[in-house]
Amino acid sequence: MFFAAHASMPPRKPAGRAQTRPPAHERSEPSTPARKARIEKPVATKPARKAADSRKATPLTAYNAKRDFTRTDEPAGTIPRKRAKVLQFVIQKHEASHLHFDFRLELDGVMKSWAIPKGPSLDPAVKRLAMEVEDHPISYNTFEGTIPQGEYGGGTVMLWDRGTYISDDGSTAQSLRDGYDRGELKITLQGKRLRGGYVLRRMKRPGRPQWLLIKRDDAFADPTRDIVAEKTTSVASRRTMDSIAKGNRSSKAKHS
Ligand code: MN
Repeated sequence: MFFAAHASMPPRKPAGRAQTRPPAHERSEPSTPARKARIEKPVATKPARKAADSRKATPLTAYNAKRDFTRTDEPAGTIPRKRAKVLQFVIQKHEASHLHFDFRLELDGVMKSWAIPKGPSLDPAVKRLAMEVEDHPISYNTFEGTIPQGEYGGGTVMLWDRGTYISDDGSTAQSLRDGYDRGELKITLQGKRLRGGYVLRRMKRPGRPQWLLIKRDDAFADPTRDIVAEKTTSVASRRTMDSIAKGNRSSKAKHS
């Protein structure tokens, strides 16, 4: 019935088309594929390139998202294409809302980072809480200065120690990766102030990963020393926290 009625309807096409002429931008059918291609080509390649970039930058996405690089002197997070053969470590004393020491280990083009409220110890009996924070760029290893108040991490940053490190079982990146994934990083530091074996052990706690930094019992262990109290100047510039803070404030004032 329905089919019959439909089939018997008069051919409306010519008249219909004349009456409902599509708007100019829809009219010219031959040009549509060409225009489609022109429009879709950049649309298709741009997200693809962006996706590739964000895949590459994933380890530093959190770092970049937290910072306004027009306001802070900290370096923007990028991953270098060339990798050095030796792995760097750095410890930055950071007087932010709470004083802490940022412990950073180079791995796969970024600095894996932990905030240690009490700083490192030379005593193997002492376990220092190390809260894992976002990966930092390797270029952060030379950063010393002040982050403006009100910005993320606002406060003074001192280069407290730096050097190289190896994993205890052969120094391959893979063994470090495995140790990191397993939650037990056994490393040997070759710094100016910290040397010898340390272990970073992840605690089984929910939420943000918390680790413990423990000095291993070796020739560099020394329970009688308080290295954090002993060393209060920059390993790079010899400045105190106070002079770093003052130096940066005055150089900022010149620009404003
Ligand atoms: Mn910090």
